[in-house]
Amino acid sequence: MIDKLHILYWFLSHRFTRWFHPSGVSRWRKWRWFKNLRKSAYYQSKVQSNTPFPVIEKKEFMAQFNTINTVGLDREESYRTALTAESTRDFSPEINGVSVGLSSGTSGVRGLFLTSRRERAIWVGAVLDRVIGWSFKKRSVAFFLRANNNLYEAVNSKLLAFRFYDLKIRMEDHLPDLECNKPDILVAQPSVMLELAKAKLAGQCTIAPSRLISVAEVLEDDYRKTIEAAFGVRVDQVYQCTEGFLGYTCTEGRMHLNEDWLEIERHFIDDEGVRFHPIITDYLRYSQPVVRYELNDILHLGAACSCGNPSTVVDRIEGRSDDIFYLEAIDGQVIRMYPDFIRRAVVTADCPPDDFAVYQVTGNRIELDLRSGDDAVSDEIFDSVHDNLTKLFMDFGLHDVEIRRTRRFNQTMNKFRRIQNENHTKHAV
Ligand SMILES: [Zn+2]
Repeated sequence: MIDKLHILYWFLSHRFTRWFHPSGVSRWRKWRWFKNLRKSAYYQSKVQSNTPFPVIEKKEFMAQFNTINTVGLDREESYRTALTAESTRDFSPEINGVSVGLSSGTSGVRGLFLTSRRERAIWVGAVLDRVIGWSFKKRSVAFFLRANNNLYEAVNSKLLAFRFYDLKIRMEDHLPDLECNKPDILVAQPSVMLELAKAKLAGQCTIAPSRLISVAEVLEDDYRKTIEAAFGVRVDQVYQCTEGFLGYTCTEGRMHLNEDWLEIERHFIDDEGVRFHPIITDYLRYSQPVVRYELNDILHLGAACSCGNPSTVVDRIEGRSDDIFYLEAIDGQVIRMYPDFIRRAVVTADCPPDDFAVYQVTGNRIELDLRSGDDAVSDEIFDSVHDNLTKLFMDFGLHDVEIRRTRRFNQTMNKFRRIQNENHTKHAV
């Protein structure tokens, strides 16, 4: 259990550093972090020789797990501990005071992430400061997660009753407990929130949270509208992943990156300078340093926000680079098709479906799972989406993309991604 004073300290620290260093990491914070980085075998020589740090991706980050972490943990042992926690659903074990969490691994490699007690206190302080806000009234938080983690349990306190809802359990079985619990704050991925919104609209649940916080998945516009209509509250977003707490929605409803402890470089992937992958350096992470770590999320750079916070604004999170479709034109040229292009073609069809998923299966073959409620759609809707997608492909010089029907998406448990490239062929940018 983390000391409450420690959490209070970090809550105040986040608040004050945001005032005094709103658009950058303080020199003191950097100096302390560099001192700790010498304990990492991987970075030690680079710090001493003043060599620039390399950009690192998840695969290499995992391969170098033993040399990167500064707390002497072994990858195999950590992996076993995390897997046991997942299979027994008991997420309390620590190794030498350090918690081990696994990322969902939808991009192939399952990530192994460490958080010390200090880092958990920092995280809770940040969540209180940026997301939940301070209140003297005790509030109940319902948190839907694939796997719990000591990180999240740490939020339990006299001011917050934090309840974990396991995504492995069906939603119907959670409803009675939710009714009793009456959460003030609901934290869930949008596909789960949508299920709850539908249950609410159907009169199967009466919860009325005053805050809705979307995590883990792309927040699709139509999902957001249905959820907001059902609960009568704005959906805020937290950009949180195993790599860190990266951003949150401000009072103006726009997403800011936490640049008072993160340095975020932008790796632009389009010619317009809009879409970029964030490369993050986290100056509060000591046990497992995150140094110039490139995420494959596709962020859209936004204009400055009127709320007064000068940190970078992200207009939207489009998906991940794994979701980009690569299709081949007749002349052999490979065309990159961003998830938003596909999304827009489906929702602007003359007869759009209620819900959908689009997969690139192999080469130039696309599969559509279109839904009307829980049922498959009529031929009219399918043809309408088919025509719109064909038109989009033709505009890009793609004349032989095969589009078929499929029926397979299941929204619970795993992260729901509307646009997925299952072909995973890597092409040079
Ligand atoms: Zn703002």
